[in-house]
Amino acid sequence: MRLPKVTRFLATVATAALAALGTVTVDVAPASAAVRNVCYNTSQAGPFASYAVQAASIWNNRTNNINMAQCGSNLMIYYTYGGGSYAQRTSLGNGRVVIDYYQAQQYSPLRIMTHEIGHILGLPDNYNGNCAILMSGGSAGTSCTNPYPSTAEAARVDQLFGFAAARSATTPQVFTGSWPAPATAGAQR
Ligand SMILES: [Zn+2]
Repeated sequence: MRLPKVTRFLATVATAALAALGTVTVDVAPASAAVRNVCYNTSQAGPFASYAVQAASIWNNRTNNINMAQCGSNLMIYYTYGGGSYAQRTSLGNGRVVIDYYQAQQYSPLRIMTHEIGHILGLPDNYNGNCAILMSGGSAGTSCTNPYPSTAEAARVDQLFGFAAARSATTPQVFTGSWPAPATAGAQR
């Protein structure tokens, strides 16, 4: 009676290992079967509601495995005055994004929105100062307005949403401090 269990377990481990290696192709199921809805709610987003819609569109266009739509409240969008923008991820695709109104006057509000949603979609910060990298956040300076994830960033989101093992391995986390106040007027890069 224990053999089937062990076999199932080994099959799961093998699948997870292959997934980690990125060697599993999506021909095991139609691509549409992997698409997961990320339902966001802009009712509390105030002046940033339209940016949330734009950011969702960007993520939808750049990925294959997610569909962001205003179909529920898995992801709540808020705004505040001061304290900094942040993302609070409760699990992959779930949580809240808070946009700091003042920060959004220094940095591109669309880049902030797309970046913070990126955290909800599983991406960590990557403060390398490269404007082509969405998750570099404020390290790319206030002049950087790029709201698009890089190919690698989008692929990572697809990878996370494409495999159940990766989805469940995505831990709750709060991401703050991505948009530091510019030190001086000359500190731009
Ligand atoms: Zn961040």
